[in-house]
Amino acid sequence: MQKQTVAFSRDSSNLFFHILTKCNLSCSHCYINKTQHGENTLDIGTIKDWLGLFSPKAHQTNLIFLGGEPTLHPDLSLAVKEARRLGFLSITIDTNGYLFHDILDKITPDDLDFLSFSLDGATKHTNDIIRGKGSYDAVLSGIQKAGNKGFSCSMIYTVSDKNIHELELMPSLVQRLGISRFFIQVIGMRGESTQSSKILKARQVSKDLWLKTIPQVAETIAASGIIVTYPKVFLTPGEEFQCAGNVAENYFVFPNARVYQCPICEDFPLHSHEIQNNRLVTMPSINEKDLFKLNIPEGCVMNKMIQPGNLAYTKSGKPSHKIACCMLKQELIP
Ligand code: SF4
Ligand code: SF4
Repeated sequence: MQKQTVAFSRDSSNLFFHILTKCNLSCSHCYINKTQHGENTLDIGTIKDWLGLFSPKAHQTNLIFLGGEPTLHPDLSLAVKEARRLGFLSITIDTNGYLFHDILDKITPDDLDFLSFSLDGATKHTNDIIRGKGSYDAVLSGIQKAGNKGFSCSMIYTVSDKNIHELELMPSLVQRLGISRFFIQVIGMRGESTQSSKILKARQVSKDLWLKTIPQVAETIAASGIIVTYPKVFLTPGEEFQCAGNVAENYFVFPNARVYQCPICEDFPLHSHEIQNNRLVTMPSINEKDLFKLNIPEGCVMNKMIQPGNLAYTKSGKPSHKIACCMLKQELIP
């Protein structure tokens, strides 16, 4: 098994394209913030134009269609085919499993590299408390339908204090479902997670619990032949900190034309670019790029500002550890 930290590089980029913010679910940790991201649904002409904007580097760009729930867009299949025509390195649809508009009948496995399903519990009970009643069954049946048609399925499990106890049940579940890639995410303190009115307020887990649980589960899953990716989160002493915003090309595009380079800036009007008249325009200061330059002993500056709960300090006031960029991943390749 090969274990590697996926270093940032200017030679590869990721385009996270939110084509709408509408969704049929209301997950307790949903990162969509309609005040910041708008409520419109891009028409297919605009989607094609915006894909074209990023197409000069399509051959080195992984494209992920997101929402909201992207299969609620009636023309998602046309967007996927256009992305294939433009030559994007890989094309993924992230879905909550409901697979609206018969999307599996409108595209083929040749059009798409991955259909990525979000599941936040190994049991219906835990998942549906977080994501909504019926969502567990929707994911399982969606994976079965997609698998039967030959699509390659991956899964995203967003870890919080509400579901980390069920991660150890995931290896047998993902094997049974025939998943080819498994992504572990850490819950971000943004979007709905920041709303104090939420009955179910999920939180990040402690450093000790994260380190005790995540690498071990990842290795068990990878040992069964599935590629596993999880965020590094805590840098070990001496490990170099890098902010992806300074080094890599990641773009998070929203239907109100805002373009961010850091996902944890998305709750604020700090976007570094905006699409205006079909051009990618750089925003004036202050924007997220001004924050990327700050070199602080705690590592990620946005983490310190909006989710400092995962920091700790020695008696002399120095940080006990640095927080990695949220885009820094560990990858286990069987
Ligand atoms: S997290 Fe995804 S599936 Fe859940 S409400 Fe938000 S957009 Fe919908
Ligand atoms: S998560 Fe932190 S380190 Fe990563 S891009 Fe954002 S500000 Fe930079």
